[in-house]
Amino acid sequence: MVNTMMSYRLYGANDIRYESVEIPNIPEGGVRGKNLAIGICASDGKLWHDGDAHSRRTCAVHKTGKLAQNPIIIMHEGCFQDTNGQLWVFQADHYESDGTPMAIGYAKNGAACEIVTFDREVVNGGYLIKVPDGIDAISAAIAEPYACALHSMEETRDYKNVLKGGNVAIFGFGPLGMIHFDLMRSSKPENVYIIENQDPRLEKARTTYARLGNEYGMNIHVIDFSKNDPFDFIPKKSIDDLILCAPVGGILVKMIDQDIFRKGAHANIFAGMPADKPKYEIDLRKAHYLDLHIHNTSGSSIKNYETILQAVADGTINPLNVVVAVGGLDSIEEGFKAVAVENKYPGKVVILPGQRKGRIITIEELMGGHDVLVREEAKALVNGDIKLPEKQK
Ligand SMILES: [Zn+2]
Repeated sequence: MVNTMMSYRLYGANDIRYESVEIPNIPEGGVRGKNLAIGICASDGKLWHDGDAHSRRTCAVHKTGKLAQNPIIIMHEGCFQDTNGQLWVFQADHYESDGTPMAIGYAKNGAACEIVTFDREVVNGGYLIKVPDGIDAISAAIAEPYACALHSMEETRDYKNVLKGGNVAIFGFGPLGMIHFDLMRSSKPENVYIIENQDPRLEKARTTYARLGNEYGMNIHVIDFSKNDPFDFIPKKSIDDLILCAPVGGILVKMIDQDIFRKGAHANIFAGMPADKPKYEIDLRKAHYLDLHIHNTSGSSIKNYETILQAVADGTINPLNVVVAVGGLDSIEEGFKAVAVENKYPGKVVILPGQRKGRIITIEELMGGHDVLVREEAKALVNGDIKLPEKQK
């Protein structure tokens, strides 16, 4: 019996090792499962870079010790299958019964491996969430960023979404901009202004998302802010919802100054501002007479995950819209560089541990032209019926 597996473990800042490790025993009261799909998230890159200095490690260091002595398997978005064939996802933000935050993939072992193991604290705390029947593992694996986006919508507005039939500006159209777009279809805003400056994302917005907008009955306007002032294109007093998915607080300042918001609008500051530039000066007098609601959110709840998975099952959202590339376990490092450093892919990259040697490949290249996977294709990729081309040696 094989009792080793491949995994990516972090030994300290910028010290990641792809290595064969012994598959851990199932801890008492814990579970083990076959890992089916892993979402690459830019925030894993921050842990990779910061190592022990990362805030989700410093708060737990009294329990975890240092990475050099106790390396952990990284990554916090994933879907696994138990021995009964049931699919599960896990919530990354995890608190042990004594209150210690022990985030999965940060302070305790995460998803970058072939067989995942979770301890009793994770099981008993309810941090494993059952995936409804029929959903593919690729969609389920990226429930985490969806849950965060849903949390920000539900917590901040009475109508728990964007304004029905209103006008929305999405600033920053990476994976989270796309996820917000998917979530807002139930409110069918009349106009959606997508504001971006990176070419692959602009291209994705002009192709896939223009088509989806058409399908959903929403007018899509794509604005390249490296070449244009977005507010030459967005009418004054028109925006009901701003979704800020890039750490550029100056946009909010400008939108208030230039009277872009409609009265009663909501500004959702979803992106975290950079540590070296967290402060902005806002015209609160204008904001006051505008009845402007400014919200800030981060994280998500288990309830949010459940709502998301149910919406996928019901077909009211489709995470496969957001997946732009897939790859095998051997390609995680390459995938990370592409996502976190090079910004090469405009949406989510999902890793399939079952296809170890597969290189990272876009859906368009893999599927010969269509740019969004259908559910059956996603399932075939996970079980290996559709094979990924192998990495060149
Ligand atoms: Zn994430």
